[in-house]
Amino acid sequence: MPTNSQNPETIVLHAGYRSDPTTKAVAVPIYQTTSYQFDSTEHAANLFALKELGNIYTRIMNPTQAAFEERVAALEGGVAALGLASGQAASLFAVQNICHAGDNFVCSTDIYGGTWNLFGNTMKTMGIECRFVDPADPENFRRATDAKTRCYYGETLPNPKLAVFPIGEVAAIGRSMGVPLIMDNTAAPMICRPLQHGAAVSMHSTTKYIGGHGTSIGGIIVDGGNFDWEKHAERFPMLNTPDPSYHGAVWTQAVKPLGPIAYILKARVTLLRDLGAAMSPFNAFMFIQGLETLALRMRQHCANGAAVADFLAKHPKVNKVIYPKHMSGEAKRRADAYLKGGYGGLVGFELKGGRDAGRRFIDKLAMFYHVANIGDARSLAIHPASTTHSQLTPEEQLQTGVTDGYVRLSIGIEHPDDIIADLDQALAAA
Ligand code: PLP
Repeated sequence: MPTNSQNPETIVLHAGYRSDPTTKAVAVPIYQTTSYQFDSTEHAANLFALKELGNIYTRIMNPTQAAFEERVAALEGGVAALGLASGQAASLFAVQNICHAGDNFVCSTDIYGGTWNLFGNTMKTMGIECRFVDPADPENFRRATDAKTRCYYGETLPNPKLAVFPIGEVAAIGRSMGVPLIMDNTAAPMICRPLQHGAAVSMHSTTKYIGGHGTSIGGIIVDGGNFDWEKHAERFPMLNTPDPSYHGAVWTQAVKPLGPIAYILKARVTLLRDLGAAMSPFNAFMFIQGLETLALRMRQHCANGAAVADFLAKHPKVNKVIYPKHMSGEAKRRADAYLKGGYGGLVGFELKGGRDAGRRFIDKLAMFYHVANIGDARSLAIHPASTTHSQLTPEEQLQTGVTDGYVRLSIGIEHPDDIIADLDQALAAA
C-alpha cells in the first residue's frame, strides 16, 4: 500500500503506485501496449473468468490507467474507479451501467449542455428516459421516482448557474428508496468529495481540472462501494441476476471475494469491453501529471476566482455576478456545506449591455483564451448561449441558467492582477 494518508495533497502523489516493479521507475511508465503475455492457458482462463484480476487487453485495462484510477478512487474516497476516453463516455457509462431500455433516471436541470443532450436526446433513442428536475427543491427527485427509476444524477458545481447541488439531501432521499446518487464532480475536485456526503458514484471529465493543462480528453467513474445493490435487488436486476453477456455472472455475487465493486467491475468488463471507449495510456499518464499538482492549482483557482468575482461585483457595466461566495440564502448554505477550501474557479456574470456587449467583451480579451473548455491552468472565457449551450432550445437554455448576456469565465492560475487587468480593459469596450 503506497500510502495510508487521508490527506488529498498526499493521496494525489502517492496513492496506488510506488515504483515500477520491473524497472523501479518512480514516474508511472506509459505502458503503450495493447496486450499482455499470459503465463499459461490456466492463467489466461482465470483472467477471463475473473477468478484472478489481471491485465488482458488495453481496451479493458492498462497499468498506466490503473495507477491513475487508484489515485482518483483514493482522492474521492471510493473503492475503485474506471478511466474512460472522455467525460461524455463517463456520464453515459455511469448511467447506462444500471439503466436499461424501459428504465428511467432523474437528473438535475443544472448540468453541462453536452450531458443534457446525451441524457435527453441520445439516451432517449436507447429507450432510457431522463426525467429532468429542478434541484433547488430536493424533494423534486422523490416526486419523479417510480419503480423503474435506477439512479439520480447531479453536478456538484454546475455551470452556468454555479448553484451547489444538494448532495446530502438528494442522496438521503435516494437511499430511502434504494436509488443511488451519481455526482458529476468535474468542477470541484479537492474542494468537494460527494461520496462523503452520501453519493454512491462520482465521475469527472478529467479533461478539466484533473488534467489541468488543456492537453487531453478523458473521464473517470469512481465507485463509492457504499451502496447495497443486493438489498435493492428488485431495482437492480442487472447486478443481481445472471448476466448473459458474461456467462451468467451475477455481479453482486461474483465480486464477493474482491470487495464492494460490483458496479464498477460490471462497467469495465461489459460496457467498456463492448463499447470500447478506453482511455489511452498516454492520456492516463498526462492525467497523473495533472493530479500531482491538483491541490496547489485548486487553491489558486479558488483564490483567483474569488478575487475576480469581487472585482466584477463592483464594476458598473456588470448586472449580476454568479459565484457561490456571492450567493445568499439556501444557495450559500449549500455552497458552504459542500465546498471546502474555496468556491471554485468558475465565475459567471451578466453584462448590462446584453448579447452585443457580451460579444464585444469576449472579442476584446487579450490574455484570456476564448475556448470551449474549463479547468485549464490558463484563464478561459466563453459566451454559452451562442456556443456550448447553442444546441438547446431557448427554454432549455433558460432552465440551465444561460441568458443572452451571460459570460462564463474559467479563472486560471495566473497572477490575479493580470487576470483582472485583462477583464478591465475588455469591459471598457463592452
Ligand atoms: N461534465 C462536465 C461538468 C463538463 O463540463 C464536461 C465538458 O465540458 C463534461 C462532463 C464532458 O466531458 P468531456 O468534454 O471530457 O467529454
